[in-house]
Amino acid sequence: MGQGRVKQDMSNVLTHYRYLHSIPEPGFQEFKTADYLAGKLEEAGYKVTRNLAGSTGLAGEYDSGIPGPVVAIRADMDALTHVIDGQKTARHSCGHDAHSSMLLAVAEKVMAEGKIKKGKFKALFQPAEELGAGALKILESDIVDDVDYIIGMHIRPIQECPPGSAICELRYAAGCHFSALIRGRQAHGSKPHLGINPIDAATCAIAAVNAIHLDPRLSYSIKCTRFHADSGVFNSVPEYAEITFDMRAQDNPSMNELKEQAIRAIENGVAAIGATVEKFEFYTHFPAAEGFDRELTKIIRESAAAVVGEENTIPFFDTSGGEDFFCYPVKFPHIKAGFIGLGVGAEPCLHHQDMHFDTKYLENGVSIHEKVLERLLG
Ligand SMILES: [Zn+2]
Ligand SMILES: [Zn+2]
Repeated sequence: MGQGRVKQDMSNVLTHYRYLHSIPEPGFQEFKTADYLAGKLEEAGYKVTRNLAGSTGLAGEYDSGIPGPVVAIRADMDALTHVIDGQKTARHSCGHDAHSSMLLAVAEKVMAEGKIKKGKFKALFQPAEELGAGALKILESDIVDDVDYIIGMHIRPIQECPPGSAICELRYAAGCHFSALIRGRQAHGSKPHLGINPIDAATCAIAAVNAIHLDPRLSYSIKCTRFHADSGVFNSVPEYAEITFDMRAQDNPSMNELKEQAIRAIENGVAAIGATVEKFEFYTHFPAAEGFDRELTKIIRESAAAVVGEENTIPFFDTSGGEDFFCYPVKFPHIKAGFIGLGVGAEPCLHHQDMHFDTKYLENGVSIHEKVLERLLG
């Protein structure tokens, strides 16, 4: 692996990034972010549709009037809510401000330079990726109904992609988060034999879940990530406990199998001491990467090589991370999808409240997007 490369062609990406980075907003509350993006797209000459499906999502559209494919580049806009010094604080710890900045910058550039010569280009800004709900919300609108190609990009942590490099096919895993509300029976702390302790039941459920084994050739994980039980007093057996799980699997059939086994393990685990599961609640479900198109991935690979050099172009990478981007090709299997990972030196890792990276590499993302657009619509 070489030293990585920085594209020198200057766009407005850093100006956009500095502003968007200063106004982090959580999922479905990207009001200022959406306002800024919509305003800049309109200034650049795009037809802008705001409030897609009643959300903060928006799209800028340019129709060349010449027959050709409809190409969408999708960027996410939301920040994460961390608890910092006891305060809920929105921060762009996943770099979605970078994604929006790169997409806006390339939209301005291709318009100013007249590079869309056929077909239609849609710059799609999606809310609430972190909530696993944004793509599904956008799909309630008709904005992607006519799309032939959809492209996503995500900055990568330094462990996955060296700075100045690019991954041409980032294969995301499936991710799913759910909780189980476990009901026991309340009792005085001195008379535990009259109660059923839901905390004990929850630990039985967790042990049962930890004993799940899928085929070891598959990559998957399941772990308890949250445990709540508090009746408000310390001298009584509480009635309820709630446990939350994070599940990952490399493909969608494995995720379905993991989900079925987890539900069975939790139900039977709590039943071991007479407790019951009152309800399961599923929060998010990110499908694993599907819909990658060979021809599009080849175009991405050639575009990336032209920007960062062949030696810094990584053909594919299997990540355990999740992305709701794949809701688009899963819903519309005819859409040709591509997903690019951008090496920017993000440390210590994404979702860390102090995640930081070298913004000079964002120009690479703009240029890769630009070259892909030139190939598809030039
Ligand atoms: Zn994230
Ligand atoms: Zn992200």
